[in-house]
Amino acid sequence: MNADILRRFVRDIPDLPKPGILFRDITPLLADPEALKLAVDAMAAPFAGKEIDVVAAAEARGFIFAAPLALRLGAGFVPIRKPGKLPFDRNSFRYELEYGADELEVHVDGVSKGENVLLVDDLLATGGTMEACCRLLEQCEANIIGCSFLIHLVPLGGQDRLNPYTSHSVLRYD
Ligand code: 5GP
Repeated sequence: MNADILRRFVRDIPDLPKPGILFRDITPLLADPEALKLAVDAMAAPFAGKEIDVVAAAEARGFIFAAPLALRLGAGFVPIRKPGKLPFDRNSFRYELEYGADELEVHVDGVSKGENVLLVDDLLATGGTMEACCRLLEQCEANIIGCSFLIHLVPLGGQDRLNPYTSHSVLRYD
């Protein structure tokens, strides 16, 4: 099964970024042409045949998968970035973290009212990043078709924050 093959290309890095956290490193998967293709195919498959205008993703690892998914699904790609990175006029969404706050931005002409958007990221953990992306694009009056992830770290509960949306992940870690 493809998920079993892909799992072999995800490297576990203990104690990153801090003691007790197990970081799932996807760079071996990205470096392997067949694994990368399998991953993109599997992330796109549930959304094939749906009318998607735009695939959007937050920097940085979300970008890696979003552009090939956009090509696969016949959609454009729109970047969502940290404050001050996008060159043109922006919409922004500020959200609370465990310690402090963060903000994401998208160009005002990135996503138009009523456009069908698929959101993409490499990994779903607490769901904070993806929830913020969804809220930002809802501010732009986009129609969110769903969220596609390569990896879902199930015990971190991110799915609960994405309840209003259809979401799909290729690899689940329980
Ligand atoms: P969340 O906002 O769901 O807590 O975290 C998800 C975001 O953090 C994603 O954008 C993802 O790139 C990054 N992230 C958090 N933990 C990991 C990890 O173990 N591996 C990778 N590759 N990304 C992670």
